[in-house]
Amino acid sequence: MKAVLPDEKIPKFWYNILPDLPEPLEPPLDPETEKPIEPEKLLRIFAEELVKQEMSRERYVEIPREVRELYAKIGRPTPLFRATNLEKRLRTPARIYFKYEGATVTGSHKINTALAQAYYAKKQGIERLVTETGAGQWGTALSLAGALIGLRVRVYMARASYQQKPYRRVLMNIYGAEVFPSPSDRTEVGRRFLAEDPSHPGGLGIAISEAIEDVLKDENARYSLGSVLNHVLMHQTVIGLEAKEQIREFEEPDVIIGCVGGGSNFAGLAYPFVKDVLKGKEEYEFIAVEPKAAPTMTSGVYAYDYGDSGRLTPKMKMHTLGHTYYVPPIHAGGLRYHGLAPTLSVLVNHGIVKPVAYHQTEVFDAATLFAKAEGIVPAPESAHAIKAAIDIALRAKEQEEEKVILFNLSGHGLLDLKGYEDFLEGRLEDYEPKEIPVLNGLF
Ligand SMILES: *Cc1c(COP(=O)(O)O)cnc(C)c1O
Repeated sequence: MKAVLPDEKIPKFWYNILPDLPEPLEPPLDPETEKPIEPEKLLRIFAEELVKQEMSRERYVEIPREVRELYAKIGRPTPLFRATNLEKRLRTPARIYFKYEGATVTGSHKINTALAQAYYAKKQGIERLVTETGAGQWGTALSLAGALIGLRVRVYMARASYQQKPYRRVLMNIYGAEVFPSPSDRTEVGRRFLAEDPSHPGGLGIAISEAIEDVLKDENARYSLGSVLNHVLMHQTVIGLEAKEQIREFEEPDVIIGCVGGGSNFAGLAYPFVKDVLKGKEEYEFIAVEPKAAPTMTSGVYAYDYGDSGRLTPKMKMHTLGHTYYVPPIHAGGLRYHGLAPTLSVLVNHGIVKPVAYHQTEVFDAATLFAKAEGIVPAPESAHAIKAAIDIALRAKEQEEEKVILFNLSGHGLLDLKGYEDFLEGRLEDYEPKEIPVLNGLF
């Protein structure tokens, strides 16, 4: 069973949650002065329209016609499926639906914001976009966006992934992007980390610092971020706006689930539904799923922290493990981040979104069960959402409840087969965080 929509049903507006939040966001701080950052400073880093969107109080922001046409080209609207075979295998009375963002041409939701960001940069006359990537999904999406829109793209890719996932790098190269392993010797930040350890595995926090330093050296370049920021989460709401229309062909959901790295695919599916809860119209339950190796929501603190390890970004009030947190090398590279989107942090604080955390072996267990039942091999990140959906469906069975579950399948895992191989051969390790800097006063 599935629901597909024609091209005309690609949303015409993104939903901006800022005016509907239960409390206003705390402003980002300038790392030099610790005062709210001046928008002018942000304009040197980000395209102008994105800085405006970051602070916009407009509830609906129009999607440019050109971006909607590109959305159609890359596979939007994406399908919504009912996981009927998974339901049968679980013998649950629950009904399980999922929105499949793996159906886009780059294989994940990241292209939804990459196209918008590249569009506004090009319109402003920017020539080059620079970014970081962990597992490679975001770098791939921005590389394609650059190719479609006519911008050069440079990607700093965490060295561990650069070595473990050579095919992601090839994909970025096919789309014409330059890819450097991070830490690299091209930036001061990179050289600092290399001096500590010449074979440093890198991480998202370091790669972000390198990308920003690179941009600050080139007037015609701007930085793009793949998650966390308000405008990125807003671009992703096309997922939930489509899903709302699709699931209503069948019924109303009770529970809405997404995995969380920085929070963008979760927000993309959930925020259009969160809106109805904030307005008192509906009573959905929201579950945000993270890895136990990077337990930002379940073990972090709510505090001002840097978005990167090199301390170049503004400080944001968010759930964080501390920017010096060492994220263990789990296969869900897209979830290896110390912080969390500020808007999602507020919703967690207010109990509107409930966080849960899982270990990677139980997540891969759920992923392979899902693949056998539904045919789709999920990205290890997305499999966190699947694990939560299965747990809720099994609880519904015990309680003989007809729960309606909707989760976001944020990407496919066809370039993550190394992780699956490790799992199938019993080589996968679970990691308990050794030391959480914020809890030890180290941050
Ligand atoms: C990047 C990524 C994530 C995590 O990032 P969010 O911003 O939290 O969505 C999840 N799933 C996939 C497939 C990704 O590529």
